[in-house]
Amino acid sequence: MIGTLAGIGAVAAGASFVGLHTMVPWSQLYGANFNGEAPPSRRLALTYDDGPNDPHTLHLLDVLARHNVKATFFMVGQFVRQRPQIARAVAEAGHAIGNHTYTHPNLIFVSRSNLRRQLEDTTKAIEDATGQTPKLFRPPFGGRRPGTFAIAREHGMTPVMWRVTCFDWSAKSNETIERHANRQIKGGDVILLHDGGHLAIGADRSHTVKATDNLIAKYKQSGYEFVSVPAMMG
Ligand SMILES: [Zn+2]
Repeated sequence: MIGTLAGIGAVAAGASFVGLHTMVPWSQLYGANFNGEAPPSRRLALTYDDGPNDPHTLHLLDVLARHNVKATFFMVGQFVRQRPQIARAVAEAGHAIGNHTYTHPNLIFVSRSNLRRQLEDTTKAIEDATGQTPKLFRPPFGGRRPGTFAIAREHGMTPVMWRVTCFDWSAKSNETIERHANRQIKGGDVILLHDGGHLAIGADRSHTVKATDNLIAKYKQSGYEFVSVPAMMG
């Protein structure tokens, strides 16, 4: 979840240039990151953070399978350790898996040595559960500072941010999530959604599952194709 981002609009006027860029998802100031492809594009990449999560990650897998869509899941290492069978199911369904740290701290406040440990423990958890080594990294809350992305790259991972924020962590209905998506989608976007909650397994993500179903149907009908982040990165 990226609750801190919700306040960006409100604080933007007063924020310093550098302070704002630590949290704006598409900013390249603290290192290059992938957040989509250049327009014009008819491709979209759905991404899901903070899982694996019982039972909503599995519900989401059903929806994605029904639409024959591959997505990308940024997993929290400690939840992978708690639900390795769900992480394995995501991998076996052919979705991409990224590293979202072990305990989901805001990396603005994490030392380099602790960041390395967060990344390594999560990669090990994902490897043990799925047999795959994650090649993608997304910082919790979008928070980063100079060096954060460089350390991720040292660990063989490309930093991935996003362009479309659906605010699903606080949404009261699937319609609200879809409205945020519809307002921001231009084509070629990486879209941020959540199959879990960063505090614990068990967060209700039923609105996100329903919104996913509706968004895929709507945009496929308009000629869009849904691809994983690695597929979009080529
Ligand atoms: Zn997160």
